[in-house]
Amino acid sequence: MPVHEIRVIGDPVLKQIAREVTDIDGALVRLCEDMVDTMYEAAGLGLAAPQVGVQKRLFVYDLREGDGPQVIVNPQIVESDGEWVYEEGCLSVPGLSWEILRPNQIHVTGVDLDGNELSIEADELAGRMFQHELDHLNGVLLVERLDDDQRKEARKALRQLMMGERPARPPRDEEPARKGLSLR
Ligand code: ZN
Repeated sequence: MPVHEIRVIGDPVLKQIAREVTDIDGALVRLCEDMVDTMYEAAGLGLAAPQVGVQKRLFVYDLREGDGPQVIVNPQIVESDGEWVYEEGCLSVPGLSWEILRPNQIHVTGVDLDGNELSIEADELAGRMFQHELDHLNGVLLVERLDDDQRKEARKALRQLMMGERPARPPRDEEPARKGLSLR
């Protein structure tokens, strides 16, 4: 399967609001398969369609809990509760991460690739991943969730990323542990 190039902050596609999926066809299924490969290649926990330049409301994810790759189409958060601080990173903002406060428990609805309705309750890492990926569908990057101090500190690194200077990726066999990586 072809692996897609992951769009990086500064790419206008990441700021657009993705469109509702109206038709689940073979092309969409293939897109999701390619996105899963792209996500694994980048060692991410989730990947939203806009991150590969596709303006559709869907994302793929795999929390590495043994369920394999999952797809959610037209996701919506219908309820959220609590607060949780977690060090969050993003494949589209490579090499950087910040402690970000968001609701902890969420209830997400959507459909899978067979058109079955999904209703998922999640918290902690899973809850965070859903909120992060849904932000992508609304053209929101995690840098918009930073507080003033974090933003000030990150300014230079973000400017470099937006000018196309990518930090070197660690060699494959030296990938950081999942917890600290928090790639989405
Ligand atoms: Zn992301």
